[in-house]
Amino acid sequence: MNNKTKRLTIPLYLQILLGMVAGIVIGITALFIHAETAVSHWVTPWGQLFIRMLQLIAIPLIFVTLVKGVSGLKDISKFSKLGTKTLLIYLCFITISASFGIGAGLVAHPGDLVNKDIAAGLQETYHTVIAEKALAAEQVQEQGPLNFLNDIVPGNIIHAAGNNSNILQVIFFAILFAVALLLIPQEKAKPVIDLFDGLNDIILKMVDFIIRLAPIGVAALMAGLVTDFKGDGSIFSALGLYAATVAVAMFAIMFLFYPLMIRLFGGKIRVRDFLRAMYPVQLFAFTTSSSAVTLPVTMKATENELNVSKEVSSFVLPIGVTVNMDGTSCYQAIAILFIAQVLGIDLTLSQILTVLFMTILSSIGTPGIPGGTYVILAMVLTSVGIPAEGLALIIGIDRPLDMLRTAVNVTGDAAVACMIDQNDKKKLINTT
Ligand code: ASP
Repeated sequence: MNNKTKRLTIPLYLQILLGMVAGIVIGITALFIHAETAVSHWVTPWGQLFIRMLQLIAIPLIFVTLVKGVSGLKDISKFSKLGTKTLLIYLCFITISASFGIGAGLVAHPGDLVNKDIAAGLQETYHTVIAEKALAAEQVQEQGPLNFLNDIVPGNIIHAAGNNSNILQVIFFAILFAVALLLIPQEKAKPVIDLFDGLNDIILKMVDFIIRLAPIGVAALMAGLVTDFKGDGSIFSALGLYAATVAVAMFAIMFLFYPLMIRLFGGKIRVRDFLRAMYPVQLFAFTTSSSAVTLPVTMKATENELNVSKEVSSFVLPIGVTVNMDGTSCYQAIAILFIAQVLGIDLTLSQILTVLFMTILSSIGTPGIPGGTYVILAMVLTSVGIPAEGLALIIGIDRPLDMLRTAVNVTGDAAVACMIDQNDKKKLINTT
């Protein structure tokens, strides 16, 4: 009994790490006893099932998270200025971070370390998907420059939600729905908002169930990868460079970009004080991997240590938890480029811009929970035409990177709260 209790308390990230090791061992053993076919028939399907479950939950998750996030601005009339300012700054921050990610992924090119023969084999495996993508890209080029609007505005929401590659159309409908919800009389909106609160909890619980299956999914995917890579170690050096690229980008955002923003727009707040106040918040985010769970700690630090008014912090920070995911958007961009590089998919400039646009929007739809990204990433990959199975490459080492991007996410929220608060205070002094 005691043993059982002990086993159940192994933290999820350790279980995932163990799953990864188990998968590598299964894969190597299969290579030694020439049981590759057995792995592809009996082990890999469990990993694919895990990815299907991630895809299954993606549309409801994005829809509910977005509606809840936007309708959280319930005092939009009272705070319309604050709301617009907050959303605009958040959008700028996410765009800069995602561009950072694209830049880092393109400069470091971690996927290139993978052995070329192996990459060719993988391309062969995903040949049909990649060919379809090339065809679709050609068709897009033949259409007019405004054709992208058709990719955003759905003609039929059921049809849009029925296809995992139409993520933008679902996002468009969700935002339209949420804005309309804000504009109808409060007594009519209230039950719907309450319903979405409940739905949000249900969906997050479902995500929790699915993420609990991650150790098994990761083990199965890893075993498949090792046999696909025929024991070639190049994937591990590529993964090492990939992780290092993510880490460098995250540290640059946290210790260069945010301090610069505080210096330029943080009024009386000194960079040193900001970093000192953020340190415990970052540690908390780092250990929990959840910006939602870290919210009370972020609020306390910004209010008590950085003197941000309660009015600003209680408005800007909760929205930030849902909307402002700088670490996540930077990470998603690097991850997508890495998977494309390993699978030998050459992205054109317009495809890279699509990746940028998609990561900006999809990071907004990512929940602030551990591993929130890979639920969304499975879908973003499909929508930019990269096989979602590519996720298998990175999921095993996701946890430490999740810890880093969560620390970035919460620091970004706090930086924006400081900037808005200082701006308000300056205006108040000017008007008195
Ligand atoms: N864990 C992240 C957060 O809570 C979300 C993600 O997976 O990127 O902020």
